[in-house]
Amino acid sequence: MQRNLNKLANTTYDLLIVGGGITGACAAWDASLRGLSVALVDKVDFGSATSAASGKIIHGGLRYMQYGALHRARESLHERMVFQKIAPHFVHPIPFLIPTYGHLLKGKEILTLGMTLYDLLGLDKNNSKAPEKTIPRHRVLSRNKVLELFPDIDRVGITGGILYYDCQMHNPERLTLSFLLTANNAGADLVNYVKVKEFHKKDNRVTGVKAEDTITGEKFDIQARVVLNASGPWMHSLLRPLKRVEPRVNLQFSKGIHIITRSLTKNCALALATKHSHAGALVNRGGRHFFIIPWRNHSLIGTTNVPFEGRPDDKMVTERDILGLLQEINAAYPAASLKRQDVAFFYGGLYPDDIKRSVGDAYQGARKDQIVDHSTNEGIDGLISALSVKYTTARKLAQRTINLVFRKLGYKPPECLTEKTPIHGGKIERFNDFLFAETERNASRLKKDITRNLIYNYGTAYAKVLGHADKNPGWCETIHAQLPIINAQVIHAVRDEMAQKLTDVVFRRTGLGTVGDPGEAALQTCAYTMAGELGWDAQKIQRELMEVREVFSPSP
Ligand SMILES: Cc1cc2nc3c(=O)[nH]c(=O)nc-3n(C[C@H](O)[C@H](O)[C@H](O)COP(=O)(O)OP(=O)(O)OC[C@H]3O[C@@H](n4cnc5c(N)ncnc54)[C@H](O)[C@@H]3O)c2cc1C
Repeated sequence: MQRNLNKLANTTYDLLIVGGGITGACAAWDASLRGLSVALVDKVDFGSATSAASGKIIHGGLRYMQYGALHRARESLHERMVFQKIAPHFVHPIPFLIPTYGHLLKGKEILTLGMTLYDLLGLDKNNSKAPEKTIPRHRVLSRNKVLELFPDIDRVGITGGILYYDCQMHNPERLTLSFLLTANNAGADLVNYVKVKEFHKKDNRVTGVKAEDTITGEKFDIQARVVLNASGPWMHSLLRPLKRVEPRVNLQFSKGIHIITRSLTKNCALALATKHSHAGALVNRGGRHFFIIPWRNHSLIGTTNVPFEGRPDDKMVTERDILGLLQEINAAYPAASLKRQDVAFFYGGLYPDDIKRSVGDAYQGARKDQIVDHSTNEGIDGLISALSVKYTTARKLAQRTINLVFRKLGYKPPECLTEKTPIHGGKIERFNDFLFAETERNASRLKKDITRNLIYNYGTAYAKVLGHADKNPGWCETIHAQLPIINAQVIHAVRDEMAQKLTDVVFRRTGLGTVGDPGEAALQTCAYTMAGELGWDAQKIQRELMEVREVFSPSP
């Protein structure tokens, strides 16, 4: 994937997509598979905003049951199955335990009823050939069994628990990138660090955009027959210069943060209610639910939900946010006894909230994806906005959006192929067999955890990463003593995956920094390897290192 600004400036595309999060990535992939000429730009790195701030769950929409939105639960269950099929290296089943307290409407019985219906809705959503991809039905656990699994949780009033399965993304940043790599393989031109400044308009029709390369400051135009605004939380600011458009997109945002801590639960995620009253709890103990989820030998804990009044470019996580979440966790689960130094990493993002009704859990239940054709009310043709509320359903949102793009171009939409087409590196029928075979095959050259890490992050495309190490065996060395990440991944990130900055490599191409600060030596190794590839001087290296360190410090 090469960064070709010249081509962007000298082509008239069928579709230009603004925003390289999961919404834009899926749209670029779908449109290019169906034969459109596509360009996509992101003002920062691909997948660096909301799409890197999720709870990493591809979920079957259990929450929708609570709101009676069965069709949405069914859609999520379907999309979860699709994700497992097209991205088997990234998306894996994981068990969740919800302890129940009390009876009837307050506890186990109502949840069991809901789960039974949920399982029925998902009956036909479990057709993988690989046994490890099968999602078992829920199980009702006795009080004793729950306490055997989690002896430290609050015992007062506990009546048992429900064990159910969902899916976890191993690496959402790389998953988003892989959709883009697939789009690129199908012909899409993708460029990071290009900001759309304004739209070009002719007779009430958007004909393209004025853009700026945020690395060099160079300004240029991009022409397109249709422009898709997939800029997530920036949607308003992008539309604002068009003035008449703003009221049609219904937007305000809530902030949610997650923290990565030492491991609290090994093989099973745990859902607990906070002590404060909240409308969005799964089983109402008076609190909002948060999840303690095992991830990469750590616990991923979140989320919070507070109204957001800043700007989407603001630093998302404050020290107060972290301390507040720690307090909530320790109050609900005193045995966790989490201290500030147990927080290895943190991140935050914005979810669209509802202006009209105040719902406790904005992300989980209330909002819906939005597709806005700006010709309908505002009379501005050639412009569509798509706003996603879930990573899980982004593929489906893209399908509907690209159907509309075809209609706007004056064609009947051809069949959408994304449901059946594996993403880059994803053509694997039986993941565990593949993992075992490849780990054995590379055993003389690579430690098992290195091959495993490569396969979980690149799927079949891991061979291309190792191709770099064929030319320089030193690139098989790990960057960090405790992490199975090798130098060849840095080289691959720069040469084949458009990494422009050290932050791209540390947080989005290799995952080196997403379980905490890997330390100065590892960061310097990465920085000097990148410098060799990109011609950075000593000053530039220091600036890049500073930017990485900034990510590890919350605002006060
Ligand atoms: C706390 C939290 C937890 C969540 N957990 C889950 C979960 O577990 N499972 C799930 O399915 N969903 C989850 N979600 C929802 C999911 O993360 C989002 O729906 C999804 O990531 C939105 O993707 P997007 O591409 O629309 O937006 P973004 O990822 O924000 O992408 C928008 C992109 O547009 C770019 N951009 C903006 N302005 C411009 C411009 N002028 N020029 C060029 N580029 C521009 C930005 O740089 C950005 O990269 C969660 C959300 C939050 C906030």
